[in-house]
Amino acid sequence: MKLTVLGAGRCVTGSKYLLEWQQFSALVDCGLFQGPAAHRRLNWKPLPHPASRLDAVVLTHAHIDHSGYLPRLARQGFSGPVYCTSATAALLRVLLPDAAHLQEEEARYANKEGYSKHQPALPLFRLADARAALRLLRPIPFGTWTDLHPGIRFRFHRQGHILGAAAVELKSKVAGGQRRTVYFSGDIGRYGVPILREPESYPGSDVLLIEATYGDRRHDPRDPREVLADQVNAAIKRGGVLLIPAFAVDRTQELLYMLHELAVDGDIPEIPIWLDSPMGIETTALYSRFTSEHDVEMRQSLAEQSNPIFPANLGVTPTSRDSRKLNDIKGPAIIISASGMATGGRILHHLKLRLPGSANTVMFVGYQAEGTKGRRLVEGEEKVKIHGQWVPVRAQITQVSGLSAHADVEEMLVWLKRRERDPDRVVIVHGEYPAQQAFAETLHRELGWTSEIPELGDTMTL
Ligand SMILES: [Zn+2]
Repeated sequence: MKLTVLGAGRCVTGSKYLLEWQQFSALVDCGLFQGPAAHRRLNWKPLPHPASRLDAVVLTHAHIDHSGYLPRLARQGFSGPVYCTSATAALLRVLLPDAAHLQEEEARYANKEGYSKHQPALPLFRLADARAALRLLRPIPFGTWTDLHPGIRFRFHRQGHILGAAAVELKSKVAGGQRRTVYFSGDIGRYGVPILREPESYPGSDVLLIEATYGDRRHDPRDPREVLADQVNAAIKRGGVLLIPAFAVDRTQELLYMLHELAVDGDIPEIPIWLDSPMGIETTALYSRFTSEHDVEMRQSLAEQSNPIFPANLGVTPTSRDSRKLNDIKGPAIIISASGMATGGRILHHLKLRLPGSANTVMFVGYQAEGTKGRRLVEGEEKVKIHGQWVPVRAQITQVSGLSAHADVEEMLVWLKRRERDPDRVVIVHGEYPAQQAFAETLHRELGWTSEIPELGDTMTL
């Protein structure tokens, strides 16, 4: 079997691995390149294998950097099955149309501003392509062996990380009736975080493709609940509104869970919370609905008829009219809105209104990439430009670290610990190169493994 790294080779986005076996070909993950323009341009590069001749796609999870190229693939004539877990399929029904909407919006904006190289600027895909991709989804339960092709089968293993996330174990027949197992870690989740069940340990395989996003780092050892409680209390004392920019998938639900838990324990007062993100509202409903994904505590709460991520003090504002009503509220109150790095979405309206008020607080709860408004605010800029207008920053800007959907290096070692056998080949993907190198050294020191770190476009025979 041949494997070509079409994404997440010495970088963290665009996850896509082309598998070729005799006449058969498939992709494991089908992600979009995100971030710097040089990366995003790769989304326009033709695949080395025509999309219309691909037989199937297997997805580890719904994050756009693992799934967002699907509409583009459909647009290029791909019509095979896309295997994923049921929760991943449900999330994709929310995320892919939104991704298409963003593509169309960006093209419209580029045409208006005249900065595109294409004349006119074109979206990578449109809503119709996203809908075509959604029709190809084939949900498969965790743990069920499924034939991908005669001689190749796969199954999903629970991976925590986000709702529906999985690792993929793939077995192919080789000469002499033997089978060769390739294990794709996908994005590895964390232990002891709320709502979702923990990752299933790596069982062992012939080949292991493992991510290394946090291959060189440990998460903040402080309990994020305590940091959150301190900062919420300080914000309440200031008397204004607490704005929290948060990713709609997972971070929003984790936050809601923790805020509820802190209020129940009496560590923070119960104040109104507003969830002002149409996507966040939909994904929170999905996080509530997929009970098979829940950990013991979440199940218990639901059995007691109380939903920690939809508590009584939570209000939701699906329409823009509802959202505008939030402009009149006074503190203390919490508004959670997307996007998490303040790059777009409704959070911008709230920032424009609340940043000039010294009683208000803006709390960032995730990584802020370079070049984003979130990063500029965290770095203490005194004014930021929003919708073409300079806004003075007088609100308190704070950050809660330690909230992440990715395992850190210690947690990845825990994930590997219970294996029944060692892989004979280890391939490190999905990480910045320095993080991957550090992780390769850790794997060598702790487990005696030698690993490879392929570049984009590298092909290997497994
Ligand atoms: Zn992910």
